[in-house]
Amino acid sequence: MLNKVVIANRGEIALRILRACKELGIQTVAVHSTVDRDLLHVRLADESVCIGPPPAAESYLSIPAIISAAEITDAVAIHPGYGFLAENADFAEQVEKSGFIFIGPSPDTIRQMGDKVAAIQYMRQLSVPCVPGSRDPIGEDDTDTLRIAREISYPVIIKAAGGGGGRGMRVVHTESHLLNAITLTRSEAKAAFNNEKVYIEKYLQNPRHIEIQVLGDGQGNAIYLGERDCSIQRRHQKIIEEAPAPGITPEQRHKIGELCASACRKMQYRGAGTMEFLYEDGCFYFIEMNTRVQVEHPVTEMVTGIDIVKAQLHIAAGEKLAYCQEDIKISGHAIECRINAEDPHRFTPSPGTINYFHAPGGPGIRVDSHLYNGYKVPPYYDSLIAKIIAHGETREIALARMRNALDEIVIEGIKTNIPLHQDILRGNTFQKGLINIHYLEKWMNL
Ligand code: ADP
Repeated sequence: MLNKVVIANRGEIALRILRACKELGIQTVAVHSTVDRDLLHVRLADESVCIGPPPAAESYLSIPAIISAAEITDAVAIHPGYGFLAENADFAEQVEKSGFIFIGPSPDTIRQMGDKVAAIQYMRQLSVPCVPGSRDPIGEDDTDTLRIAREISYPVIIKAAGGGGGRGMRVVHTESHLLNAITLTRSEAKAAFNNEKVYIEKYLQNPRHIEIQVLGDGQGNAIYLGERDCSIQRRHQKIIEEAPAPGITPEQRHKIGELCASACRKMQYRGAGTMEFLYEDGCFYFIEMNTRVQVEHPVTEMVTGIDIVKAQLHIAAGEKLAYCQEDIKISGHAIECRINAEDPHRFTPSPGTINYFHAPGGPGIRVDSHLYNGYKVPPYYDSLIAKIIAHGETREIALARMRNALDEIVIEGIKTNIPLHQDILRGNTFQKGLINIHYLEKWMNL
């Protein structure tokens, strides 16, 4: 097993990784910015290194600072978590060139999947169904662009090849807006992702977001751990996720899951990954692959009993996959609510001191959170402060447990989106599982 791991992240995921390392007897190094020295995982880690001031660009995104931390602590591997440098192929490459293990796929895989156009082209070759769209990035020839969009048929969505986090997308309903929208998306993409490549896809009207969790060992073995439904979104950002996806049959799961696992086998995929799809009228359409652990991984862990972070560590240590597909059984239903430090109605961030924190409990409840009494939520980073995961034999039981947990949890001193979650869970349509990616935004405007 790995001897010592640098956790190149913060907040709940850093704590999650620390817990997995401790279970496996791996020593941990927490790296943190000056404002984060009191984070729970920093206190619990064997060693910690301050890597810079609060702005992420000068700390959590500083490749030299993180590699130096691994050097001075004699660590053997670096876990990037999600966000920050997790899908930065140059980072993975420099980690490896400096003699450390990057806990994730090879830099080449990250690079290929990080370019959404390249990822789609690759998946098409492997017979994975994709959203109808332009096969290449949009070029300078306007006549050609107009023809492509006409063939796809309106509405279309313009997407940045290097986009992520729900940014770099623009829906176009009529031809007269197309060229202008492309120019705008291009310049936004250049500023946000330093990559002005954009492409066009059919804008699906009422799809659900369903994604497949995969694990590969980089030695040609890969399995799928079922699917998650992440259709409850605001501005293309997930808020609630669940597994399994309501209404998906075992046959459908097996068919799409096997397609994903087989794609991973062909690319010798190493580590945990997620293939994201839109699902409409019984059909799956690939949109992108995330080459890292996802925020919503716990719902899959709860229904499969597989610890995805520990699996990442085993794979990084060079071990073969410990499971074959037949070992994977879906048991019951799990749902996750992302608790953010923000105004529940206006969504403005709400940093500040947690005067009082009380975690919910009871059968089937899991809380992944770095909060404690007196912890100060800094204004510099993502607003995610806790994830509540409820598991039960059925979806109804999981929902009832989640309702209890949302009533029990106490977070005083800042605003959170807990009231929004309580409202969503009261909704009839949500309770029936009849939702799509537009449900939340439409429902909030009522
Ligand atoms: P990101 O990498 O920024 O998360 P994705 O490609 O994963 O971007 O898309 C995020 C969300 O945007 C999807 O879950 C869905 O809600 C919406 N979306 C993306 N592509 C389409 C499409 N072709 N039609 C309709 N909605 C889409």
